[in-house]
Amino acid sequence: MVTPGVLVLLLTLLRAHSFTARVLTELRNYDYTKYHPLPEIMTWMQQMETENPEILSTTVYGRSYENRDIQFLKIGLNPHEDKKAIWMDCGIHAREWISPAFCQYFVKEILRTYKTDTKVEHMLKNLDLYVTPVLNLDGYTYTWKDNTTRLWRKNRSPGTGCNCTGTDLNRNFDAFWGSTGSSSDCCEEIYHGTEAKSEAETRAVVDFVGPRSKDFLCFLSIHSYSQMILVPYAHPNIKAPNYDELMEVANDAAKAIKAVHGMDYIVGSSVDLLYPAGGTSIGWARFMGIPYSFTFELRDKGEHGFVLPEDQIQPTCEEAYEGVRAILTYVHDKTFYSAAASLTATLWTTLLASWLTNATLL
Ligand SMILES: [Zn+2]
Repeated sequence: MVTPGVLVLLLTLLRAHSFTARVLTELRNYDYTKYHPLPEIMTWMQQMETENPEILSTTVYGRSYENRDIQFLKIGLNPHEDKKAIWMDCGIHAREWISPAFCQYFVKEILRTYKTDTKVEHMLKNLDLYVTPVLNLDGYTYTWKDNTTRLWRKNRSPGTGCNCTGTDLNRNFDAFWGSTGSSSDCCEEIYHGTEAKSEAETRAVVDFVGPRSKDFLCFLSIHSYSQMILVPYAHPNIKAPNYDELMEVANDAAKAIKAVHGMDYIVGSSVDLLYPAGGTSIGWARFMGIPYSFTFELRDKGEHGFVLPEDQIQPTCEEAYEGVRAILTYVHDKTFYSAAASLTATLWTTLLASWLTNATLL
């Protein structure tokens, strides 16, 4: 006979099992063509880790103003101390929903292809990818509240000395902070905060990437909209030291994007294409010596703007993936194959010199 206590336990186990089964089924069928609220994205992250322990792990590297865990997914093979790294953050601006959707698609595609695509596998052996699907967690959550909050851009920390809320995280980094293209008025959309790195979300990135900046080859920040690839700096008078190379790489990425669905992405600095902007994350990353720093502005060109319809998620992600892949391929090959090629050349020169010396001796 089953006692009531055992019955309750059995029912609890059954319910837990059916919940787990339901979550697993839901994630197996995770719909990458829909926008997802934050709790679903967090569950997706956990599940990615559970299903891919050999290649993927999640790490909490900060806490938002409203005390949410700021996390990245780290994807890589062949762990060793000297691995180089790639940074990608999505959702720094709350209303740009296509951005977190892209980070999720990117992770899904890397996991789907690395066992069959030798190029992806090779890159993952040499590089670790650090992907933050949603950086501005509080702002993103707020945009899901109702129609009146859908277009919120900033984070959700209270202003100092006024009644408005939120700092523009992409004006809060320590690169031309407080200069043109940002505002000291906390009611403005481009409020830069009380000082550089005043915001928890900014500090999380700076405190993690900063001490490891020598390992990072590439820093990608994904935004919308405008269909652009932006290179540093967003300052009217200063260009990155490798500006010409950055433009070349970004132009190749734009070609890769166009080849997918024929979409035009234009390339340049924010000053040339949009506006000057002090305190941006890619400006900071380039300042820190990370050579390949880019901002992506995904679809569209303004017809729907931040409220990009869900039927455009898939094509937007497909083309942007090829753009990012073009950049990663360039960065990877230049770093590892050029080094290997120059080592081979050195060996040949040494061998030749030795042969010539020996020949002379003979
Ligand atoms: Zn943005």
